[in-house]
Amino acid sequence: RVEPAARIQELPTQFFANLSAKAAARVAEGYDVINLGQGNPDQPTPQPIVDRLKAAADNPLYHKYPPFSGYRFLKEAVAKRYEEDYGVKLDPDTEVAILFGGKTGLVEISQCLLNPGDVCLVPDPGYPDYWSGVALAGARMVFMPLAESNGFLPDYGALKPEDLNRAKLMFINYPNNPTGAVADAAFYAETVEFAARHGIVVASDFAYGAIGFDGKRPVSFLETPGAKEVGVEFYTLSKSYNMAGWRVGFALGNADVIRLINLIQDHYYCSLFGAIQEAAAYALTGPQDSVRELSAMYERRRDTLFRALDRIGWKASKPGGSFFCWLPVPAGHSSESFADLVFEQADVVLAPGVGFGRSGEGYVRLGLLADEARLEEAAARIGRLGLFG
Ligand code: PLP
Repeated sequence: RVEPAARIQELPTQFFANLSAKAAARVAEGYDVINLGQGNPDQPTPQPIVDRLKAAADNPLYHKYPPFSGYRFLKEAVAKRYEEDYGVKLDPDTEVAILFGGKTGLVEISQCLLNPGDVCLVPDPGYPDYWSGVALAGARMVFMPLAESNGFLPDYGALKPEDLNRAKLMFINYPNNPTGAVADAAFYAETVEFAARHGIVVASDFAYGAIGFDGKRPVSFLETPGAKEVGVEFYTLSKSYNMAGWRVGFALGNADVIRLINLIQDHYYCSLFGAIQEAAAYALTGPQDSVRELSAMYERRRDTLFRALDRIGWKASKPGGSFFCWLPVPAGHSSESFADLVFEQADVVLAPGVGFGRSGEGYVRLGLLADEARLEEAAARIGRLGLFG
């Protein structure tokens, strides 16, 4: 029998892998399951990007190892996108790291910066991959509850001085998974000031940066004066270009942190297939209409879903961005008992809020990851269970 190392046993349970296995098993049994429990975009990558990959795959240069931190043209491409979209200037050589998906960087940064005994401030509810890196580093998480009454923003004033003394790293994530909340410039200014005062590195997860509703463009953390002195932003093509399977992400900002992330990633995966890097650069610098259309599509889905929720009497607040809706469960249910009931009796998969942390109890997360007719069908099936006033 193989004895796993202690640090592996500290990893969080694979809550979402278990959820999708359950859904897949039911589909295999022939049920018509509407899976809104995961964060996997349902649309294909725009064809011109796919065509670019096909052509680039013939280039023998890309059949060799890529440069250890990736091709400069891709770093230039992401820097150009940030300059155009956010007015943020980034030095491609020192302020950009290319990642194997944003996820790897979100795990690696904890290994780069945390020693055993150090504290990492983590949003609750939040994306569970933040927990993994902290566990692998042997460090300690201190949760920052995100309350609906505070717009799902953390309350820095509520953190204990003894935790702040040990805190080295913090995660923030807007547009937010799972709540769909968005942050404004004032919140980021407060974050930069807080982080500078306590000597904490900020990791801003901007995975849903391209998806904002009601005419509001999500703000990047790096737009804030002083942001680059205290932190980095994680950016990914997974959601904005429907490229989740391609595994292209970036860390952007503070040069000291970028150097450490480049150092660690070289030991793990030695950058991405060059043809993928070329197609990713094309995605970032070519026409951006598909990104605008994608955000508009999720907004239409959101509005259709909320009209359907209204019809069945399910009261909830609309998300301002991301493709997630954060819906309160009916009285008498926990997030898990409600999600189980909806799965078993309506064949709709929702993610129980508790999977994102203790403060997620009382909610379920619904992904806008099916067309409008299917979202209406999901709401109607749930309505037939008769759980709402
Ligand atoms: N951050 C958040 C909040 C996410 O929801 C996801 C993906 O679901 C990621 C980061 C990781 O994205 P990727 O590794 O595909 O770039």
